Order: sequence, then C-alpha cells, then structure tokens
Amino acid sequence: MSQNPTTAVSHSSRSTTEPELRSHTQALIIQVQNLEKTYTTARGALTLFRGMNLEVQTGEMVAIVGQSGAGKSTLLHILGALDAPTAGTVLCASTNVAQLSSREAAAFRNREIGYVWQFHYLLPEFTAQENVAMPLMARGVSKREAHTVASKWLKEVGLEDRGEHRPGELSGGEQQRVALARALVNNPRLLLADEPTGDLDEITAGLVFDLITRLHATHGLTSILVTHNLELAARCTRALRLEGGKFTAL
Ligand code: ADP
Repeated sequence: MSQNPTTAVSHSSRSTTEPELRSHTQALIIQVQNLEKTYTTARGALTLFRGMNLEVQTGEMVAIVGQSGAGKSTLLHILGALDAPTAGTVLCASTNVAQLSSREAAAFRNREIGYVWQFHYLLPEFTAQENVAMPLMARGVSKREAHTVASKWLKEVGLEDRGEHRPGELSGGEQQRVALARALVNNPRLLLADEPTGDLDEITAGLVFDLITRLHATHGLTSILVTHNLELAARCTRALRLEGGKFTAL
C-alpha cells in the first residue's frame, strides 16, 4: 500500500471509523496545509513552497533531507514561528503560528519549541550553566532556581562537571550537548533541529544523535531534524525528502 509521505507512518492499524479519525487528529502536533512561501528578492520573487502539506503526529521523530536551497531551514523557521508563511495554515503545538504577533511568537517559541542549529550559538562570555539557565530566566524563573534546573540538564547531557566552563573551553560535541540542554530546559513539546550534527566528525555526530534520540524518548518530544546524513535519517521514525517544495518518503 502506498503511503502518503506527508502523514505519519503509524496508521496501519487505524480504521476509518469517525472516533478513531478524531483521535488521530488530536494526536497531530503539526498540520501544515497549502503552505506557500515566497521571498521577495532584488532579483524578483522566489517561491519555495506552493500547496505544501505536512502532518506530524505527537511523538514522531521526522528527518528531513534535501539539497541545499530546498527550503528545509525555511520550513523549520516557519514551524518555529521565526518566519511567516506567505499563505496557508500552519498549526503547530495547537497554535496557528501564521497569525502570531512578534510578541506572541516569542512566547510561543519559549514555551513550545526547542531549537538547535548546526552551530551552537552559545554566548561565549557566559558559562555552560549560565547559557542553559538563560531561557528559564527569560521566563521569569529566579536565578537560583534556573541554575538548579540548568545543572540537572547538564547532568542529563553528560556534562555535569563542565557547568563552569565557557563554550570556548568545550569541544564541538560538548558545545552541541550544552545547546541541546539549553533548547530543552523549558520542557518544550517540539524539538526543531537544523543540521544538529552537520559540524561534527562522524563519531561525535553519532554520539550527539544518540543523545537526541534518548532525549526525544525520555522527554516525550516530537522532533524534526534536518540532516544531510542519510544513515542518521534512517534511524528516525520517518524520513522525508524535500524537493521542488514537496515531500516524498525516503
Ligand atoms: P535549505 O535549508 O534547504 O538549504 P533554505 O531554507 O535555507 O534552504 O533556503 C531556501 C532558499 O530560500 C535559498 O535559495 C535561499 O537563498 C532562499 N532564502 C532563504 N531565506 C531568504 C530570505 N530571507 N530572503 C530571500 N531568500 C531567502
């Protein structure tokens, strides 16, 4: 049976009776419908997506692969309310992200989204623990409490004895572990990861990916990972290729 790549994989036991359809809908954490994204550039309009659809169920770990310039980062930015669609509906963690004001978008990101990029973007003048504590303090958590929680997260990513180190004193893999702790410290529902292992050697990339997989499972996350690494993509619950603004199953 051919599978619609834009819907979740685990439908095989689902019948088409109405109550089950409803529960299927409730389990959706991402529902993108008829997404259009057009950038206006000096050289004219650049349309990346037109009529794009994507559904992701709660708990899925979805890999997105595709050539450079296919629009993978743009899609993550739209899902994470860092960029706005030109048209279409983008429901993400029960929120229509297309309609948020910039203030609402910031609150949505802080509450629902953990973001990691290819480069860690840790603040170099702050320690690992301060970097991890920052999103909590941005939410109004006291410094003392934020540092207690940050220290727990550093332990969780295997860096409990590196809290006082600045990013420049950590290896690339360690920096990315700190970035993961910072991304998840507010207990978001969604992890959006843009080439999270792209700047690491093969062994370190595998270890960081193992950590992401473990955190995904133990924290009940839904994760979307952009990667060029087909081996790592194959370890996700679903892998999609983005090409010409549309998804195909990998
Ligand atoms: P990918 O992540 O798949 O490499 P991107 O989403 O980064 O692709 O970019 C897709 C295309 O959109 C590229 O051609 C890029 O130059 C263009 N693009 C991205 N952001 C902007 C922007 N803010 N303004 C204009 N063009 C952009």
